[in-house]
Amino acid sequence: MIVVFGSLNVDLVLPVSGLPGPGETVLTPAYRVVPGGKGGNQALAAARAGARVAMYGCVGRDGFAEVAVAGLGEAGVRMDGVGRVAAATGCAAVCVETGGENQIVVASGANLATRADQVPDDALGRDTILVLQLEVPLAETTKLIARARALDTRIVLNAAPAAPLPAEALEAVDVLVVNAGEASMLSASYGLDGSSSTEHITALAGAFGGAVVATLGARGAVVHANGRTWQIGALEIAAVDTTGAGDAFTGVLAAALDKDATLCDAVRRASVAGALACRGEGAQANAPTAGEIDARLAELAPAIPI
Ligand code: ADP
Repeated sequence: MIVVFGSLNVDLVLPVSGLPGPGETVLTPAYRVVPGGKGGNQALAAARAGARVAMYGCVGRDGFAEVAVAGLGEAGVRMDGVGRVAAATGCAAVCVETGGENQIVVASGANLATRADQVPDDALGRDTILVLQLEVPLAETTKLIARARALDTRIVLNAAPAAPLPAEALEAVDVLVVNAGEASMLSASYGLDGSSSTEHITALAGAFGGAVVATLGARGAVVHANGRTWQIGALEIAAVDTTGAGDAFTGVLAAALDKDATLCDAVRRASVAGALACRGEGAQANAPTAGEIDARLAELAPAIPI
């Protein structure tokens, strides 16, 4: 069972020929309104990949709330832990440049009302993988991590967007997932040395224990666990929109770990999922099914120790 504690948003996807610079206005003919939020995206990705998933978070009582939650319910995610509060549903403005690069502003709204005590103790424990990100209040995230640890829950933290976490929280995490920028920012915030993602994750794993995975976009991922490092490749694809690649990666990683895959096997599945999520616009629409991941897995070389 996977428990996701995190954000639920509506994404306004704005395709642009070039990302706006400071003070610049860019015209684009159309936009789309789609479900998003790192919590929702990761819950959806895990459910599509075949896991049993329960979501805990908050939306408003506005029209955007339905956009944020409908697809998750349809994918079989348990939604009774999602609160409805007197604030606007979270919203992200996602500019996507031709070629896939993006620029995002997130208005947190109702996500700021998310509380650790929404998750009951009986949803945690040995049979649960708790998946968290950093788009809901940090104090609630750290509170839930501490409670989950005490109940022997396996914890996967996607430290995105990067924020300075108390050391005790990182020490309680079993698998930390970061992209290259987050690996660099996090290690710098703890005064750790390193000039590459591999060095950053090695330093983070050394400082806090646990496994650390860095996602490297089209270059795949590196994994550091128990003093060893592996490189995992990426599928060769023509990326249309990279929004949500990291979320598909983390959701599928958790789904694979929930089915007792080894960490490297889980990261291989996650890497395939991250690439497939770039097939089209929107964070959730392109999250792959277990069958779609299976069909492309052989294109990825086995993990290489480095
Ligand atoms: P984030 O979206 O958090 O910045 P990444 O861009 O590193 O994360 O993407 C997460 C994962 O998705 C990567 O590790 C990789 O496996 C896959 N991925 C992302 N972009 C591409 C791409 N252009 N081609 C192939 N795989 C990709």
